Amino acid sequence: MTDSRDTGAARPFAVGAADSHPRPGADGWAPLAGSAQAVVLEILVHGPRPRTQLAERLGLSGPSLTRITKPLLESGLLVERAAQAASGSGRPAIPLDLDPDAHHFVGVKLTHDRLFVVVTDQRGEVLSERDERLPDPSPDAVVAQIARVVSSARDRDDRIRALGVTVGGQVVDRAVVRHAPFLGWDDVPLAERVTAATGLPTWVENDVRALTQAELWFGEGRGRRSFALVTIGAGVGLGLVAAGEVLGGAHSSAGSIGHQRVVVPAVAPSVAPLPTCDLGHHDCAGAFVTVSAVEAAAARALGRPVGYDDLLDLAADGHEEARVVVDAAADVLGQLIAGVLNVLDPEAVLLSGEGVRLATIAAAAVDRAIASSTHRSTPAPRLVVQRFRFDEWARGAAAVAIQMHALGR
Ligand SMILES: [Zn+2]
Repeated sequence: MTDSRDTGAARPFAVGAADSHPRPGADGWAPLAGSAQAVVLEILVHGPRPRTQLAERLGLSGPSLTRITKPLLESGLLVERAAQAASGSGRPAIPLDLDPDAHHFVGVKLTHDRLFVVVTDQRGEVLSERDERLPDPSPDAVVAQIARVVSSARDRDDRIRALGVTVGGQVVDRAVVRHAPFLGWDDVPLAERVTAATGLPTWVENDVRALTQAELWFGEGRGRRSFALVTIGAGVGLGLVAAGEVLGGAHSSAGSIGHQRVVVPAVAPSVAPLPTCDLGHHDCAGAFVTVSAVEAAAARALGRPVGYDDLLDLAADGHEEARVVVDAAADVLGQLIAGVLNVLDPEAVLLSGEGVRLATIAAAAVDRAIASSTHRSTPAPRLVVQRFRFDEWARGAAAVAIQMHALGR
């Protein structure tokens, strides 16, 4: 990985194609349909495979597969790799692969005060990364800042084809930010505006759903039919995969669990006033399990301001009040995970986000809450606590661009 991280000495604002509005595919790249899509996805996610194996996995006949892959090979999307010796007496198998460097993508993740950017290849491999402060979170300023960053990336890389942008909040049609509380945005047609400013096809997605997509294709979720991703940070989020697909829901709000009501933990700090979320609830997930909720509870219990990571360190070192606060948050996290297990029974639950260390420091409290909120016959879940890195979120944004560009869906 090339680390081109810097702190925002952005290049002069250059909007080369400000008044063209290319639609996705305007680079002469037609979205694939049906079986061709399935073939490309199989190779994109699982790597090179010989024709016979592809046909078998996708339930296609040999001649069908040959017919489908011929134009993909002719267009250069797929390439043939060196033949592998066949087992038995068959002909050597020639794996079909795709050239990961044929197309590159930019992923941008926005938080309330920072912008994280990666450039990836077609397999989601991060080629460079960067993050900047977001001095002005207004849509105008953010669009201009994204345009500067993209322009600078394209000066160094002429294979960048499309852009994905993610935000915490509700996004519809991969185009419009309906509501982004951390940015204070409502009804911002972000995809259209960024496309106009950069000249690149742009898609916008909820950050947790995009991260879930990246995990499914390029991360811990690869090869799994079902998993859940729970994120702990500025908010608490949930991404779901079932039958090999990221679930969206009727209103693009699947996984909005921030205000899910919970049983107030018996170990909750008894110091008044009761914790509340931003809507004034005393008994929702967001009142306990976000980074700011935990810090607020810590300040009340310890009688002084304590940073999130310092609090976790204190709890790990045996500080009693810190342990009470951390275990209360972990209890609520466990209740949320139990709800997912009860509804979906996923193969694994991935835990991520900048506050994810809670799940390690208070693993016992998480496990207790899961056990008490699920049937005793429910097997203990496979919990995977991921090391937190913000470029994972930006890679999620790039995964959306890869998906829409290569597969048109
Ligand atoms: Zn609430």
